[in-house]
Amino acid sequence: MSPALPAAPAAAAAAPTPEVSCRPGCGACCIAPSITSPIPGMPHGKPAGVPCIQLDADFRCRLFGRPERPAFCGGLQPSREMCGSDAVHAMHWLNRLEAATRPA
Ligand code: SF4
Ligand code: SF4
Repeated sequence: MSPALPAAPAAAAAAPTPEVSCRPGCGACCIAPSITSPIPGMPHGKPAGVPCIQLDADFRCRLFGRPERPAFCGGLQPSREMCGSDAVHAMHWLNRLEAATRPA
């Protein structure tokens, strides 16, 4: 998330208007979930718990607004339930989501 983009790493995407804004410096969405589609630099996607290679040191997506950004990322919109008040909450919430959606 390095370009001059809003402080919106993983989730901030297009419409609809999210109920909350992505919290600068969080990055939980770019670490906790597994992504099964290719990411530039991670051609097989990424495992859960591994930071995306496109997550920069300021927890911004280097691909934000670009077509190479996985559709998964744009689909994960910020919400009070997911984001909570800090990255620890978000990581726990996303870890539970990951476990609940893992193929049997
Ligand atoms: S491409 Fe990587 S850094 Fe960008 S939003 Fe998706 S998971 Fe996060
Ligand atoms: S959990 Fe929320 S605040 Fe954290 S990166 Fe994802 S959308 Fe942003």
